[in-house]
Amino acid sequence: MQNRRSFLKLGAGAALGGIAATIPTMANASCATEIKWDETFDTIVIGSGFAGLSAALNTKKQGLGSVLVLEKMQVIGGNSAINGGWLAIPKNPIQLAQGVNDDSPAELVKDQIISGRGMADIPYLEMIANRSLDAYQLCIDNGVIFRKDFNIQVGGHNKARAIRTKHGTGGDITTKLYESA
Ligand SMILES: Cc1cc2nc3c(=O)[nH]c(=O)nc-3n(C[C@H](O)[C@H](O)[C@H](O)COP(=O)(O)OP(=O)(O)OC[C@H]3O[C@@H](n4cnc5c(N)ncnc54)[C@H](O)[C@@H]3O)c2cc1C
Repeated sequence: MQNRRSFLKLGAGAALGGIAATIPTMANASCATEIKWDETFDTIVIGSGFAGLSAALNTKKQGLGSVLVLEKMQVIGGNSAINGGWLAIPKNPIQLAQGVNDDSPAELVKDQIISGRGMADIPYLEMIANRSLDAYQLCIDNGVIFRKDFNIQVGGHNKARAIRTKHGTGGDITTKLYESA
C-alpha cells in the first residue's frame, strides 16, 4: 500500500534516478574530444529577463545577425516576470502631462543614492537613469500596456515618476518582449 512515507521515498529515488541519468550525459559532453556543432548563432544571450530579452531584441534590431536566448528555467522571464511592474522614469509622458516638468535622470540618481545609503555604484545608476526613457520606449514599441494616466510618487522618490504596467507585474513586459523576440 502506498503511504506518505513510501511515496516520499519513491519520489526521492526517482529524483536521484533522474540526476544519475543526466550526469553521464553532461560529463560525456564536457569531456568529448570531438564536438559536433549542430547550430551556429552570431549572438547567444544567457537569461530571458528584462536584460536578456532587451539585449536580444536590440541585437536583432541593429541587424547583428542571428540571436539565441538560453534560459535555464522552464518558464521565461526570471525575476523580471514576477516583479511589480513599476518603472521609475523621469520625464515619462504621463509625468509631463501631469505638469511635473522639473524631473531629470540626475534627480533619480540623487534619490537612489539616498535610498541606497551611498552604497550604490553611481556610474550604473546614471546609466539606468539616462536610459530609462529608452526602456520605456522599448516597452511601448513592443506593445506593453501601462495604466492609463497613472504616475505616482512612491517611497524613496522626491517626485511622481513611477508608472506601472496594466496588471501590476513585470510579466506584462517579458511576455511582450518574448513575443517580439
Ligand atoms: C519580487 C520582485 C519585485 C520587483 N519589483 C520591481 C519593480 O516593480 N520595479 C523595478 O524596477 N524592479 C523591481 N524588481 C527588481 C527587478 O525585477 C530586477 O532588477 C530585474 O528583473 C532584473 O532583470 P534581469 O534581466 O537582470 O534578471 P532576471 O529577470 O532575474 O533574469 C535573469 C534570467 O537568467 C536566467 N539564468 C541565470 N543563469 C542562467 C544560466 N546559467 N543559463 C541560462 N539562464 C540563466 C534566470 O533563470 C533568469 O530567467 C523586483 C524584483 C523582485 C524579485
